[in-house]
Amino acid sequence: MTDQQTTPTPRPGPLRIAPYVGGKASVGGVNRVVKLSSNENPYGASPAAIAAFKAAGDTLALYPDGGATALREAIAKAEGLDPARIVCGAGSDEILSLLCLAYAGPGDEVMHSAHGFLMYRLSTLAVGAEPVSIPERDLTADIDAMIAAANEKTKIVFLANPNNPTGTMIPDADVRRLRDGLPAHTLLVIDAAYAEYVDDPDYEAGARLVEQRDDTVMTRTFSKIHGLAALRLGWGYGPEGVVDALNRVRGPFNVAAPALAAGVEAIADGAFITHARDGNRVERARVTEALERLGFPVAPSHGNFVLAEFGEDGPRSAASADEFLQKRGILIRRMEGYGLPAHLRISIGTAEENGLLLGALEDFVA
Ligand SMILES: *Cc1c(COP(=O)(O)O)cnc(C)c1O
Repeated sequence: MTDQQTTPTPRPGPLRIAPYVGGKASVGGVNRVVKLSSNENPYGASPAAIAAFKAAGDTLALYPDGGATALREAIAKAEGLDPARIVCGAGSDEILSLLCLAYAGPGDEVMHSAHGFLMYRLSTLAVGAEPVSIPERDLTADIDAMIAAANEKTKIVFLANPNNPTGTMIPDADVRRLRDGLPAHTLLVIDAAYAEYVDDPDYEAGARLVEQRDDTVMTRTFSKIHGLAALRLGWGYGPEGVVDALNRVRGPFNVAAPALAAGVEAIADGAFITHARDGNRVERARVTEALERLGFPVAPSHGNFVLAEFGEDGPRSAASADEFLQKRGILIRRMEGYGLPAHLRISIGTAEENGLLLGALEDFVA
C-alpha cells in the first residue's frame, strides 16, 4: 500500500480538459445586450413548442418516457426517417459524449478537423482517448488529409457539416469519399447541427448515408433552428448497432419530459422553421456583404453565424473589435480557443440586432 494516493484523483484524460467557455450573456453597465455569441435562434421558438413546455409543468412529478417514443415518431415523420434508428439526448452534446463513451477509450484516437467544434476534443479527453486534430484547407475540413491520417487506432471521426465556427460545408460527394476512405472499424459521426440552414443542392445532412451503411451516425439538435437551446435536446440517427450501444450507455431518463413535449411540437412546426430559415438567409447575406465592404473577409457560411477575419493585433484586431462592441452591449465570440485569434464568430440576429452590430462596426472602422 506504499504508493496509495492520499486523495481521490481523476483519470488523466479529464484533467487535460480546459472547461468549455460559452458565449458571454451580459456586460456590466449596459442595459440592452445584443447577444450574437452563441448561435442561438433570434426568433425564439415555436409558439406550439412553448405551450407544450408550459403544459408539461402539470406533470413534473412523473418520470419522462425513457424511450422518447412520441418524439422519435415526430422526428421520423417530419424528416422521413425510421424511428427505430433515432436516439434522443440532452442536447446533441450528450449524443457526442455517449458515442465517445461507447466507442473510444485509453489508447484509441478520435479525429476531428483543426477548427472543428470544440466538444469533440472535450468528449474524447473525458473518456481517456487521444484527440487528433487534422489541418484544414481554406477553413474547410481536408477530406484527403483525414483519410491519410486514419489508422488502426482511429475509433471515431467527427465531421461537423456545416462546421461551427467556420460555417463551411462539405458536399455530399466528399462526405461519401471520406466514408469510403476510412477504415471499416472507424465510426464516422456527421454532426449536422445547422442542416436546416443549408441551401446548397450539393448538401445532404447524412441520413441517406446512415441508412446505406452500418458505420455512420448523424447527430442533430433542437438548439439552433428550433430555438430550444435552454431545454437541452438533440438526437442521433444511426445503424442498429450504434443505436443499441447508445441506448445501453445513456441514462434511462436522459431527456426531460418538458423537452420531449416541446420537441414534438417544434419538429412539426414548419411555419416557424421556414420563418427562421428565411430570416437567417436574408440577414446572413446582409451581414456578410456589410462585413466584406468594411474590409473583414467572411468565410462562406451555411449556418446561422459567420466567421469574419479581423486582425491579430493593431487597431483593427479581433480583440479591439470585441472590446469596442462589448462597450455597445454587442456580444460576439472570440476564437482563440479554436486557434483563430484574428477571427470573430458573429451569430446572425434579427434585422434590428444586425443593424446595431453593423452600425457599431462602421463606427469601429471610422
Ligand atoms: C450548437 C452545436 C451543437 C448543438 O449542441 P446541443 O448540445 O444540441 O445544444 C452541436 N454541434 C455543433 C457543431 C454545434 O455548433
